[in-house]
Amino acid sequence: MADPILETRKLTKRFGALAANEDVSIDLRSNEIHAIIGPNGAGKSTLIKQICGGLKPDSGDVLISGETVTAHNTQQRSARGLGRTFQISALAMQDSVLENAVLGVIGRLGKRLSLFSNALKNSEFVEPALKALEQAGLEKQLDYKASELSHGERRQLELAIALTLSPKAFIMDEPMAGLGAGGTKQMTEVLSELRFQAPILLVEHDMDAVFALADRISVLVYGRVIACGTVDEIRNDPAVREAYLGNAA
Ligand code: ADP
Ligand code: MG
Repeated sequence: MADPILETRKLTKRFGALAANEDVSIDLRSNEIHAIIGPNGAGKSTLIKQICGGLKPDSGDVLISGETVTAHNTQQRSARGLGRTFQISALAMQDSVLENAVLGVIGRLGKRLSLFSNALKNSEFVEPALKALEQAGLEKQLDYKASELSHGERRQLELAIALTLSPKAFIMDEPMAGLGAGGTKQMTEVLSELRFQAPILLVEHDMDAVFALADRISVLVYGRVIACGTVDEIRNDPAVREAYLGNAA
């Protein structure tokens, strides 16, 4: 089988006596949404930070397309195709939706905006920006200022900017957080298509969204993966119900 696009091997991270992650081995394959769920304090954010390079593991490895990147920093991992969204808000609020996406494209090309006063007339920048905005479901809001967007639409714009980087894999930490029912539905639709562009590692508390979207789910409890499987397998797993899902399943 081909190497998974993203893989962790026995990641362990301790804070004093507490093992926030212990021997966490997960992978992310083409076209899938792999959700990581678990109670507060289970170690989800610790895992994401170690994957993205913000936190150094005590032991274990992170691999992107089979290459070990454990010693690489965040920028080097993103250059290798790791696209992280929804943590860093990088929106230029006074600029339009299209301008924000064009800025993303220019950044990807390693160029400075100041050199490109006519960037919005340059198809080298505008075409990939439009494609990303369409994929994120924002094609009707091109001329809105970022400040005029709803909370959910800003999330979609952040996603479009991440898309301009053409990542090999998306790492998403709670994309539904703070969205109302309409925003959650819109984001669910966007993510369900996005997986075919690049697979998604999804940390999310909204169980309806997780059950609707995930191809596989891993359950973290006290820093350990207690189960990994399909939605049905996880919903019917006695240990998972006991430790986490309870009646939600
Ligand atoms: P989750 O995202 O699943 O809620 P976290 O990864 O944030 O869980 O935290 C896992 C455990 O590690 C928690 O008990 C938390 O208090 C602890 N923890 C996280 N970061 C630190 C830190 N920098 N220093 C000490 N303890 C931490
Ligand atoms: Mg967390």
